[in-house]
Amino acid sequence: MQQDSLLNIRTGILLTFLFICLLLLNSCLKNTTENMESTISHLVNQVSRDNIKNHIRALTQEGSRFTNEEKASISKYINNQLESFGYEVQSIKTQDTLNLVAELRGTVTSNNIFVVAGHYDTVEDSPGADDNASAVAGMLEIARVLAKTSLVTTVQFVAFDNEEKELLGSGLYVQSLKDQGKEVIGMISLEMIAYTCGNCQIPFSDIKDCLNVQPEGIATGDFIGIVGNTHSKHMISDFRNAAENYVPALKFVSAEVAGNGSCFASTRRSDHASFWDLNYPAIMITDTANFRNPNYHKETDTLDTLDLEFATQVVKATLATVISTANTPRSQLQ
Ligand SMILES: [Zn+2]
Repeated sequence: MQQDSLLNIRTGILLTFLFICLLLLNSCLKNTTENMESTISHLVNQVSRDNIKNHIRALTQEGSRFTNEEKASISKYINNQLESFGYEVQSIKTQDTLNLVAELRGTVTSNNIFVVAGHYDTVEDSPGADDNASAVAGMLEIARVLAKTSLVTTVQFVAFDNEEKELLGSGLYVQSLKDQGKEVIGMISLEMIAYTCGNCQIPFSDIKDCLNVQPEGIATGDFIGIVGNTHSKHMISDFRNAAENYVPALKFVSAEVAGNGSCFASTRRSDHASFWDLNYPAIMITDTANFRNPNYHKETDTLDTLDLEFATQVVKATLATVISTANTPRSQLQ
């Protein structure tokens, strides 16, 4: 009888102890999630519309960025901006192509990297405010906000050259990552992020066995497009979740294309396609280019035609996506 009581007391103590442990663990996990959410909100609030505007003005003020002479002062500008945020910038010149790379080293040493990129070149005779100064401006602003933070995974900020020449800059760069044995856990290609309109949007619909659009048939040009392939499906969800949680005013439409996008070639029209071709997950964030913007590849693609409030929201959602993904240990990613 006495032994039974002793056993009951011991079991009781053990159960109480386990219960307290569970409570502590639960509250610890809850605190970690809440801390993470408040950190992301805090950083998202630091994105500045004025900075984005000033970058676009600086990047477009000399007109097109097509020849090497035209691009020289612009690559210098991007380099100087990244350095002013505290990054060491690598200028990688290969085959007449100059890519610029700044790296935020992850707290866990590994070969994993997350890439945020936009191309800085234009077609001939277009100042390319939307295509693609808007994206470079966004990439620079994200790099600035993240400069003093520490994330689990290494993040690279890349300004690609020669996107307009068959994705040459990103093609060379992604091959070099592969050759170095780097594991790209995700890549975001910012491709025109600043044009909106009332009724100039050419709507998108599903294409059987090829394209899955959600929601379909939107004819108002005030959403951001998230384009991924089958292999980067999880990145579409990550961006959608980040946008919903941290930038609820931003409307979006996502499009998931089968395979490497060849069944609907328009989904391949930026640097993310270079990553798809080496089987790395990547998404394109876009205002849908010529499906919306009448100034696409023209002299009229200028700063005064852009919706900077919209661009700021897109940059905020991209930033939130980068932090949530790069701060998640690899084992928890899909
Ligand atoms: Zn472009």
